[in-house]
Amino acid sequence: MLESRYDPSRESEIYRLWENSGACVPSGRGAVRSIAMPPPNVTGVLHIGHALDNSMQDALMRYWRLRGDDALWLPGTDHAGIATQVKVEEELAKEGLDRRAMGREAFLERVYAFKDRSQHTILSQLRALGALPDWQRQRFTLDEGLSRAVRTAFVRLYEEGLIYRGDYLVNWCPSCRTAISDIEVEYEEREGALYHLRYPLVDGDGYLEVATTRPETMLGDTAVAVHPDDARYQGLVGRLLRHPLTGREIPVVADAAADPEFGTGAVKVTPAHDPTDFEIGQRHHLATIQVIGEDGRMTDAAGAFAGLGRDEARRAVVAALEAEGVLQRIEPIRHNVGSCERCGTLIEPLVSRQWFVRMRPLAEPAAQAARDGRLEIWPERLRKVYTDWLDNIRDWCVSRQLWWGHRIPAWHCDGCGETVVAMAAPASCPQCGGGLRQDEDVLDTWFSSALWPFSTLGWPEETADLRQYYPTTALVTGYDILFFWVARMVMTGMHFTGEVPFRHVVLHGLVRDAKGRKMSKSLGNGVDPMEIIREHGADALRFGLLTGTTPGQDIRLNPERILEGRNFANKLWNAARFVLAQEPDPAAQPADDDVDRWLLARRDAAAAGMAEAFERFELGEAGRIAYDFVWGTYCDWYLELAKPRLADPAQAKAVGRVLLDVLRDALRMVHPFQPFVTEAIWQELPDTRGLLAADRWVEAGGAADETALRRVDRFTEAVRLARNLRAELGIRQGQRAPIVLRAEDPAEAAWLGARRDLFDRLAQAELSLQDPGEPAPRGALSGRLAGLEIYLPAAGLVDPAAELGRVQAELRQLGAEIEQQEGRLARPHFRDRAPEAVVAKEEARLQELLDRRRRAERRAQALSEL
Ligand SMILES: [Zn+2]
Ligand SMILES: [Zn+2]
Repeated sequence: MLESRYDPSRESEIYRLWENSGACVPSGRGAVRSIAMPPPNVTGVLHIGHALDNSMQDALMRYWRLRGDDALWLPGTDHAGIATQVKVEEELAKEGLDRRAMGREAFLERVYAFKDRSQHTILSQLRALGALPDWQRQRFTLDEGLSRAVRTAFVRLYEEGLIYRGDYLVNWCPSCRTAISDIEVEYEEREGALYHLRYPLVDGDGYLEVATTRPETMLGDTAVAVHPDDARYQGLVGRLLRHPLTGREIPVVADAAADPEFGTGAVKVTPAHDPTDFEIGQRHHLATIQVIGEDGRMTDAAGAFAGLGRDEARRAVVAALEAEGVLQRIEPIRHNVGSCERCGTLIEPLVSRQWFVRMRPLAEPAAQAARDGRLEIWPERLRKVYTDWLDNIRDWCVSRQLWWGHRIPAWHCDGCGETVVAMAAPASCPQCGGGLRQDEDVLDTWFSSALWPFSTLGWPEETADLRQYYPTTALVTGYDILFFWVARMVMTGMHFTGEVPFRHVVLHGLVRDAKGRKMSKSLGNGVDPMEIIREHGADALRFGLLTGTTPGQDIRLNPERILEGRNFANKLWNAARFVLAQEPDPAAQPADDDVDRWLLARRDAAAAGMAEAFERFELGEAGRIAYDFVWGTYCDWYLELAKPRLADPAQAKAVGRVLLDVLRDALRMVHPFQPFVTEAIWQELPDTRGLLAADRWVEAGGAADETALRRVDRFTEAVRLARNLRAELGIRQGQRAPIVLRAEDPAEAAWLGARRDLFDRLAQAELSLQDPGEPAPRGALSGRLAGLEIYLPAAGLVDPAAELGRVQAELRQLGAEIEQQEGRLARPHFRDRAPEAVVAKEEARLQELLDRRRRAERRAQALSEL
């Protein structure tokens, strides 16, 4: 017997049932389905984005398992290089320790200890959410197998000429002290200043004026560039200028990168600290003078300014330029500046020796796969975003000056300068026989996650799992890591395995607050999913998240939706209590009334609709179908329609059997969304063997009785209409109202006549049937369905004069509101300037007022006839 209320604190106990039963292990039979779980960072705690992501995957997996598919969900965690290292360094700093003083080995021991503690948190939080992957196959990006996959990938790419090492300008974070990739830089517009400087000609009078937002970098200038077609400077190209602070002689070069529209059209060239200048420098063989160091301070090459921080240096350089009389003017501007995504420090473009992956040869097949449909992106509109990025891809800087991560499998010889890339340390230098030292750097975290869908299945070995579960079925993740991760997995997957790593990319949006704002610490509007789970249960959270999703759209987490999820769990619980109170007999012959056949047909339609929605990864839609069937069809209608027969001992057993069978199906449909409450109920049903999580999907079998389906649908519609008419007339609860039905089809009239008691009970009515040939009742509110008219004669129910007075007052009020609303919409430029959503809202409001007026007018008409 079920307790009076469902208690979500039982969730962990139910989870243990699943975990111990092996319900998460793929069956090895049926259609193959697989998902590689996006590995959460080992340092992480479950945030609302994880909760959405994993609820979606878990719902898909549970649905596939119920379908009898061979479904694998492979879990794991990511070592999260820079994020983890920064956290541990912060811990160390509090103890007065420093990783450099500790040494690499001792530091890594600390990080591993931290990882073990931290990983436990995120994994137990996933369990609390109800996520049920195959824990036996859990992987970690730094485990032995994955490390081997990383080395294999690196060595192969190197041997194919797709990895190279060189001195290039990279995005450098002076605080994290490492290079970071282009997409790890966050750009924002800020107030700044444009400084106009004069560079005098070495021979003769005159000068060139250049403009810069970063005067401190001028210490590293090695040229001034002008556009080759710029008539103003034709005679100057090739002549020399004197650097106003260092005295160095620098040439004027002609380069198409100089924009004639920017400032004077002459630009200073600092190859060591600007990406465009770096390229100009390469084309004109200019010297590269690094004046800012890896610590963000001025280097010795900055002469008198050496040792200053970037801001101090700027002030000092500007003062020196003013003293020299070469600072022409300063003009305020807004411009984009880049900062480190991880720590917020301003990025310093620096030239340094790094490892790069040549991306173009990898990107072409990955873009092609999306164009020809081997890779399907949901929603489809994000496909173009994906292919555009691949079409314009730049080489990927994959080395990081960190210790936590996959150390680059390259060994350098200090004797002869040779570099060897290999799976394991070579004994000695193959060129000179001297000693070798391993490259100090580690790989970008995303290098190992780029291999995730196949490295986790055993690649580079030809394992049975790789053969069975690769390519995976779907990747479910947020659109915010489409480039960081999704595109890179497709590139490596196609390169190393010849196949796309997943057939479908299912992208969801960000979770925003109820007002549509991004969740952030500073706004204080963040939602802790664990808090919601403790308060309302994981089922409530999952339902709120899943039914709020539309593929690729940001979702608004409305607290009401979570409460709706909790109410739904309670509704299901109460329905189950009602069914069990009938002491249903699973061995009884099920009833076969029109109403029963209607219920089974509705169930079949709901199950089929859900299957279609799951096929399109529209989980929100699938959840809504389940909700409507369970709440509307089963609880609100069928339980009510069945009550009179349940009260009849001759029919009760047979009806009880239908109730029980369809309750099981309801649990199957809701299980992917609310696994805990459905399993808890399932365990209490008579004759239950095994777990719902390991059971089968709804078996369609409702006799396709179109007539029964239509009759009962119309019956419920008629009851609904009768209830609306009662409400419009303000008839109080408990007072019966006369209802007249006129059906065109005599067979339907007879059918309705036989269910008069049921109608009266559901609509609080006294039903009479009338021949459509007779005159219609006067002074009645009316409604109609095709071939069916319904009347509520108001005489004797209300005081016509008083009611008419009330309705007329309401009509005056509505008239004023409508006029006001029309005025609002007619304001000049409102429709072309206001946001679309605002216009739509105001229009909907007007429609609603007009509808209310129409209904009030009908009431006034009926009352005036009395
Ligand atoms: Zn940083
Ligand atoms: Zn050597």
